[in-house]
Amino acid sequence: MKKVKVIKIDVDKCNGCRACEAICSAFHAEPKYSSTNPERSRIRVLWDPLRDIYVPVLAGEYTEAECNGRDIYTIDGKVYDECSFCRASCPSRDLFKDPDSGLPLKCDMCEEEPPLPEPLCVQWCLSDALTYEEREEEGEEEEKTDEMEIGLESLVKKHGAKAVKDTLARLAKE
Ligand code: SF4
Ligand code: SF4
Repeated sequence: MKKVKVIKIDVDKCNGCRACEAICSAFHAEPKYSSTNPERSRIRVLWDPLRDIYVPVLAGEYTEAECNGRDIYTIDGKVYDECSFCRASCPSRDLFKDPDSGLPLKCDMCEEEPPLPEPLCVQWCLSDALTYEEREEEGEEEEKTDEMEIGLESLVKKHGAKAVKDTLARLAKE
């Protein structure tokens, strides 16, 4: 059996306070809780007071290439930009990329030892727009994607293998 962790998002309850962004970025800061910066958060709130909508979006997979097709959503007669609700860290935009390194960001459900009772964005959402659920499903536990590997891969693509190797060698000596 594998454990599936689910964050349920109730858009109607989100008031755009962005507490989820603040705590997520603080949890992932180095050192932990040393700073907050929404651009480092693995959850971003699509914030549009004019259209009266706030949609929390959790960072999903990294992708090397932009989609060839795009989606356009109309909700309550209001049209939203292409890519608005997409979870991917992708080359077409800055969303879900670390602002300093450019590395992709992905929600890791606040993995921690010992495990947290609930992810932090859920704990900090006082409007109950985010709620947490765990369930068991048939099948093997998936092998965890190695974030370091994804990060290294994207650095190699950006700067070339030699530059990355040289930098690592230099850092190891420091
Ligand atoms: S903390 Fe909750 S209410 Fe506030 S922006 Fe995030 S999801 Fe919305
Ligand atoms: S579950 Fe944790 S890592 Fe994922 S968005 Fe919420 S606070 Fe960030």
